[in-house]
Parts: sequence; structure tokens; C-alpha cells
Amino acid sequence: MAYFPADMPGVEPDFDDREFWAFCGQRSLRFQACAKCGTLRHPPGPLCPKCLSSEVEWKEAHGEAVLYSFTVVHHASHAVVAANLPYVVGLVEFPAMSGVRLVSNVTDIEPGRVRIGMPLELWWDDIGQGQFVPRFRPK
Ligand SMILES: [Zn+2]
Repeated sequence: MAYFPADMPGVEPDFDDREFWAFCGQRSLRFQACAKCGTLRHPPGPLCPKCLSSEVEWKEAHGEAVLYSFTVVHHASHAVVAANLPYVVGLVEFPAMSGVRLVSNVTDIEPGRVRIGMPLELWWDDIGQGQFVPRFRPK
């Protein structure tokens, strides 16, 4: 069962992030890296911010996931999420992959117990139509 209700709008990839979401569809969390200088970046974009190369490769997320920051949502920005209130939107970083942070949800914990720096584990939320969204829970 998906984290949010079934009528939650699905993922609508654009030109820059379509490969990111295609990997997610295979339950593979990958970040874009510059094929020339190795700089990681997220969200995906057409050029390396460091050397301006357009050559890219995709690196599988590895190592520990840690909560960098978060907010607790108490007001529904869309009617479909009202049943999930309050819920946590977190900024997740991967210390072994410097330069990338991912906005996601922290689940399976009371919002009042969420702490910056807590180790997290990735889980794949099956939202239907072959789409999977990376979400996190305490490790
Ligand atoms: Zn580069």
C-alpha cells in the first residue's frame, strides 16, 4: 500500500529528471555525476556546476543515509494528503556521496521523535503504474 492515498498525483518526469525516475522505477536510487570531473549533483541538470561538462553518469546511492533537516507538515497543501497529517518532509544526505541531498518523506516514526542526524534506511513506495518513490524510515 502506498504511503499517500491512491489519488495522489504520480511522478511526472521532465527532461532533466526522467533518467532519475527511470532508475527509481527499477528501485535503484542513483544520482547524477559529472563523467568528466566526478562531481555529484541533485536534482539532475544538463551541466556540471563545477566544470560545465554535459557528460553524465549515474552513481548508485551507497553508504549511510542521514537526516540533514526536516519539517513537519500540519496543513494539507493538497486535499489528498489530509489523511496523512501530520507527516514529515526530510532532506536526506549520504555522507559517502558528498554534494547530494534528497527531499523525501521520513515514515514509520512519530513526527515528534524525528531528529536531525538520525540514520535512515531507504524503502521503495510502490505508487502504481510502475512508479516507485524513494522514502526513508529510521534505521
Ligand atoms: Zn564536472
